[in-house]
Amino acid sequence: MESASNITTPQSLLRPHEVFQTGLMAQLLDGVYEGEMTVEELLTHGDFGIGTFNGLDGEMIILDGQCYQMRHDGSISPAQMHQKTPFAVVTHFNPVIKRDLPHNILRRSATQVLDDFTVSQNYMYAIKIVGSFEWVRTRTVIKQSKPYPKMVEATENEDIVQFDHCEGTIVGFRTPIYEQGIGVPGCHAHFIENSYQAGGHVVDFKLKEAHVEICPGTSLKLQLPLTPEFSQANLSPEDLAEQISKAEKHSS
Ligand SMILES: [Zn+2]
Repeated sequence: MESASNITTPQSLLRPHEVFQTGLMAQLLDGVYEGEMTVEELLTHGDFGIGTFNGLDGEMIILDGQCYQMRHDGSISPAQMHQKTPFAVVTHFNPVIKRDLPHNILRRSATQVLDDFTVSQNYMYAIKIVGSFEWVRTRTVIKQSKPYPKMVEATENEDIVQFDHCEGTIVGFRTPIYEQGIGVPGCHAHFIENSYQAGGHVVDFKLKEAHVEICPGTSLKLQLPLTPEFSQANLSPEDLAEQISKAEKHSS
């Protein structure tokens, strides 16, 4: 018989772990698409993450310390160290929960299963899903030019692209609802195919079979841009919740 101390309780999966973020979701909603943080600096804060590039020039995915840029034209390339980001969330990925997911489930069910694996909805979680997919539907932000429109407007013409029968990795963060405006409440995830031929901001998926690894985050380091645009942005619009829910399907 196992002694009580050897039984893994969900609470025992928690250990202090930092999530690093640059920029705010509320800032993107207000059309502030330029930050000062370079990819090079961002990678010192984590080897795993998601975000976007200045001007909303595509979706960012960071996997195993490599940063990729997935543009709206479908191209995927390694990001250059000097490129900058207005919004990104990263962590040094050190998973404490490793499980197989049930086969043939949709995103909605996967989200429920992931919630069951985690300790509490009151922490942040970095989530990595590796496996084969029946299909993955993604969106990719379109590079914007100045004067920048607000995000709800900037993202309204994005189309959904579906990739069938593919193998790849989802990099995501589950963010508590109380972080609304700081981040994207709920699950925000990006996908990249193993061959680096396909990817984007995840809208929906159906798994064939997959393995998930989860790294709880217990502290958040937030770095804000020191730009006049950020200084002057309206980060508390009356319809913040509404804008977020519209942009959640689109957000970078
Ligand atoms: Zn995204």
